[in-house]
Amino acid sequence: MKKRVDLDYNIGSGWLAPWLEGLRSGQAVASTCPTCEDAFFPPMRSCPICRLPTTGWRTLNGHATILFRTNGTDGDAAMVQFDGASGAAIAKTEGLPADATRVLIVASICDPPVLSLATEPTP
Ligand SMILES: [Zn+2]
Repeated sequence: MKKRVDLDYNIGSGWLAPWLEGLRSGQAVASTCPTCEDAFFPPMRSCPICRLPTTGWRTLNGHATILFRTNGTDGDAAMVQFDGASGAAIAKTEGLPADATRVLIVASICDPPVLSLATEPTP
């Protein structure tokens, strides 16, 4: 016997909730180590140096340096490192000038949110 079952469910953000909310609001939120106080963006569940769970969150200034850029079949992307954090994140770079080296996080319009970047304003 076959019977169709409809199931509504919600996948929670879990421990990444502060990071995901930051992506939605345009803030770079990094996980932090309680011992060495290093910050990680994208967030890491444990510190690679101290080998302890990261237990806190820190809002960074939102500025990042482009480390690498690539052109793929599904669009342009870059690896960026945020000021004040260890690690590097990948983001789409459509709309960024080809010579841009500095970027700023902006609010994601996607759901679920993705890392969204804009050119850093000139002083
Ligand atoms: Zn640490």
